[in-house]
Amino acid sequence: MKAIDIHVHVPRHPELPEYGIEPGLRKMFRMDGEPDSVQEMADRVMAADVKAVIFSVDAETETGDRPDPNDYVADVVKRHPDQFFGFATVDPRKGLAAVEELERAVTELGLIGLKLHPIHMAFFPDDPAFETLFSKVEQLGIPVLMHTGYAAAGAGTPGGGGFKLAYARPIPHVDNLAADHPDLKIIMAHPAWPWIDEQIAVALHKPNVYIDLSGWAPKYIPKQLIIEAGGRLRRKVLFGSDYPYMPPERWLEEFADLEIRDEARELILLENAKTVLGLD
Ligand SMILES: [Zn+2]
Repeated sequence: MKAIDIHVHVPRHPELPEYGIEPGLRKMFRMDGEPDSVQEMADRVMAADVKAVIFSVDAETETGDRPDPNDYVADVVKRHPDQFFGFATVDPRKGLAAVEELERAVTELGLIGLKLHPIHMAFFPDDPAFETLFSKVEQLGIPVLMHTGYAAAGAGTPGGGGFKLAYARPIPHVDNLAADHPDLKIIMAHPAWPWIDEQIAVALHKPNVYIDLSGWAPKYIPKQLIIEAGGRLRRKVLFGSDYPYMPPERWLEEFADLEIRDEARELILLENAKTVLGLD
C-alpha cells in the first residue's frame, strides 16, 4: 500500500433511491454513465495501490434523503478488508439518537471515524447543541472528518439549492470546536476555498486539526496551501480524492507533478493518515 485515501464516498446502497443532490453533482464533475459499483471501486483502489476510507453522509433531517445505513458501510469493509477502512455517519440534528448510533457504529460495527457535512446537514459544529455528540467522538477516540469550504451541491440552482456555505467556515466554527476539545482529532475535508488562509491558520494553531486535499485536481489547489503542505503543515495534510467525484489515480498522477519535497510527499500520502487513524 503506497497511500491511504482518506476521503471516498461509498456507492449508494443498491436498494435506496439516489440522493437528491446526486444528479447535479454528477453533472458538475462531468461524470457520464453508471456510477461504479462497490466491486469496481475496490478494483480501482487496488490498482492504484491505495487503501481508502469510505463513508456516507446522513443529512436526513435537512434533505429528507434516507441515509445509507452504517451497517452497509461496515459490511463493505468486511467484504474488502484489504481495500477499505470505514467511517460512520450520523445526523447531528437527530440528537441523542445520533450519539447512540455513533457509539453502536464504532463499538459494534467496528467503524473507525465519523464523517460529517455541516452544509448538507445544516449545522454549526461549534453550536453548543451538539456538544454531547462531539464529547462522544472525543471519548471514543476516533477522528471526525468534516467538510469545509465551498460545496458543489446546489451550485448554480436557485438559492444554491438552499445550502448555506457559512456552516463550513473554518473560523470560527472548526477553530472553536478544536479549542473546546483538544483531544478531538478533526480533519477539515477539502481545500476550504474561499477560506484557505483561515484553514491554514487553524491547522497551524491547533495540533488536533488536519486538512485533506480531496475534491480538487491537485494542479488547481491554491498555491499557499501547497506551499504549507510541503513545509509547516507537512505533518497535518492528508491525501484524499473525493472519489467518485475525483478518481484517486488521477489525483495521484497530478500530485506527482507538484513541487513538493519527497519527505513531505510520503507524509501526505501515507504517514499522516496512519497517525490520524492510529495505525502505528
Ligand atoms: Zn466528499
